[in-house]
Amino acid sequence: MASPTTLPGLPPGAADPCVHCGFCLPTCASYRVLASEMDSPRGRIHALRAIEAGELELDATVASHFDTCLGCFACVTACPSGVRYDQLIEHTRPKLINAGQRSAWQTSFRQLLLQVLPYPNRLRALLQPLRAYTGTPLQALARHTGLTRLFGPEIEAMERLLPPLAAEAFSDQLPLINPAEGACRGRVTLLLGCVQRCFDPNVSTATVRVLQANGFEVVIPPDQGCCGAVSHHQGELELTRRLATDLVRSMNGIEGQLDAVLVAASGCGHTMKAYGELLTTEDTQFRAPVQDVQEFLAIHGLSEAFRARLKPLATTVAMHDACHMIHGQGIQAQPRQLLRAIPDLQLKEATEAGVCCGSAGIYNLVQYEEAAELGRIKADDLSSTGAELVASANIGCTMQLRRHLGDRADVLHPMELLAASAGLHPLPGVLKGSRIAKVAGEREDR
Ligand code: SF4
Ligand code: SF4
Repeated sequence: MASPTTLPGLPPGAADPCVHCGFCLPTCASYRVLASEMDSPRGRIHALRAIEAGELELDATVASHFDTCLGCFACVTACPSGVRYDQLIEHTRPKLINAGQRSAWQTSFRQLLLQVLPYPNRLRALLQPLRAYTGTPLQALARHTGLTRLFGPEIEAMERLLPPLAAEAFSDQLPLINPAEGACRGRVTLLLGCVQRCFDPNVSTATVRVLQANGFEVVIPPDQGCCGAVSHHQGELELTRRLATDLVRSMNGIEGQLDAVLVAASGCGHTMKAYGELLTTEDTQFRAPVQDVQEFLAIHGLSEAFRARLKPLATTVAMHDACHMIHGQGIQAQPRQLLRAIPDLQLKEATEAGVCCGSAGIYNLVQYEEAAELGRIKADDLSSTGAELVASANIGCTMQLRRHLGDRADVLHPMELLAASAGLHPLPGVLKGSRIAKVAGEREDR
């Protein structure tokens, strides 16, 4: 009998069940666009076994095949043998950071992103000069003429994702205490996120309004920072632990009862649910369970008072399942269940719901070609449903989808749709004039 496979530094036996059947290949986003065995889960598992056996070195070429992995975990869902590829890639990523495995520019660019993205104040300082540019004819002209290409493909990829910057992006608007409406059903806190609070601040406000109207008090600690999802995804464990520890301290500093730590971005929720493994000492764990807000509302149910407020939104919505939601947290039915509560709203299903859109943390900035191809495929799949709107509950996916869908469909968070239907919070300014904004406007006029 063969001895169990133990990969250096990897969970013992994590790769053992792989029987090379290839069932994971059709769901793998990197294999989809690169069509190379080395860029598939099966190929990477084979490489890891060869490294363990001393037959292969983790040099720059081999490392590049791990860098093409999006960490979407579609292969984990697809694998009939129970291979924990998620554990394998998460344990491999820290080894890719060593000098010599990436170009000097790639290393510096990743470090720059990690010095900015997890810190809202730094991000805001960098974005401030761009307020006069985003959403203006100048931006449209720069994109149309290809001017942004002059700054290099990574900068061009960043610029392509840049949304119009709302005034709310530059300061947190929500107060510490957001009281429950009616009889109080519980007390929760909400992660504002780092990227989300700058690029889509409307999501947090809509989420808080929906929770309040459902009878939950929402406490927002003003000193909360990043959850560490971006650095976690890059295998930067020291930075992740620092950010996670600070966030736990901030949330645990809330006085009184706390029933849940809620998240409205699935990438963040996936990392926060992994704090049990990332943080080892007992005093650094949250004192309430981490839940996605949709998971939380599906468990507790929408209140009768809230249901009575919901007015028709006569529109069609294609649900986008973020990988860290569907594969990472097993959440698929809950967002649909909530959206079905909105009268006249019709849900549409895309053909390839489980395949990554190419966002994947900073993947669409550092592996921009593969990400752009995946973004185009996903946008075509979603728009082929004929839906006027796409629902996305992850900020990274939302930005990627907005870029690639263009004017084919608006992209909103399910909480924004619930808030709009309940007349609690207006739709984001960028959507004014769109079909869904008109529908919501008609609803308000009734
Ligand atoms: S990871 Fe699972 S699905 Fe993929 S080749 Fe191995 S056993 Fe088959
Ligand atoms: S995590 Fe996603 S991209 Fe990576 S091997 Fe699995 S399916 Fe492919």
